[in-house]
Amino acid sequence: MWWPCSRAQLGASADEANTASGADSMPPLADRSDERAEMISRTIRARGVHDDRVLQAMMRVPRHEFVPRHLQPLSYTDQPLPIGYGQTISQPYIVALMTELAEIKQGDRCLEIGTGCGYQTAVLVETGASVVTIEISDVLAAQAEARLRRLGYTPAQVQCHAGDGCMGWEDGAPFDAILVTAAAPKIPSALLSQLADNGRLVLPVGPHDAIQRLEKWLRHNQADGRATYESSFILNVQFVPLQCSR
Ligand code: SAH
Repeated sequence: MWWPCSRAQLGASADEANTASGADSMPPLADRSDERAEMISRTIRARGVHDDRVLQAMMRVPRHEFVPRHLQPLSYTDQPLPIGYGQTISQPYIVALMTELAEIKQGDRCLEIGTGCGYQTAVLVETGASVVTIEISDVLAAQAEARLRRLGYTPAQVQCHAGDGCMGWEDGAPFDAILVTAAAPKIPSALLSQLADNGRLVLPVGPHDAIQRLEKWLRHNQADGRATYESSFILNVQFVPLQCSR
């Protein structure tokens, strides 16, 4: 069974999000690596994610540091959790699956649209990517950047930007991998155009109020200068909507 990555049922308010950011100034919490190991073996590997780099990255990132304090006991259950402002931290299985689909190699350049709390961002960095991440909520973008820096991720590893990511990030293109962690009604063409040769775009596609399709798009540059794309359907998912200003 999988849980949707959508607005979770455990209602978080802006106050709760403040609690999450308040955790930034608190002393480090327990390591909880036993719970992570259990989560990886029971809910990630068991469901078919076998890439060792991805599993090790999931092991290294302390998910409880990305979750509002009052929900921290649930950090290692396989479900999305509210992070405030109507947004969620994605379900760990889906984070692992999308990271595996992105086929990150050491040194790859990766673009993430929808930073949220920064959890997927940290997992991507731990697989060896340098990441540009864009978040449309100014507050979440600032909180995520502060959290990632507190956890030791440097500007060379992660560049955080607040803004609408629907047009991608032209300045950093081309990217070896692009992940979108909110559901797009249709494929944003700007993202396909910012993929490198053999680049991978992984994203949920579909309406915000129904089940969406997790898709992977692979770019091939042709000798005549054109690009062709190969797309595949992975599984049904449910994400919060991608909000595009145009
Ligand atoms: N990556 C997160 C999941 C974030 S939920 C994780 O690791 O758990 C999706 C996020 O996408 C939300 O924070 C939402 O505010 C953001 N978002 C929605 N539309 C966006 C857009 N056009 N550009 C950038 N971020 C967007």
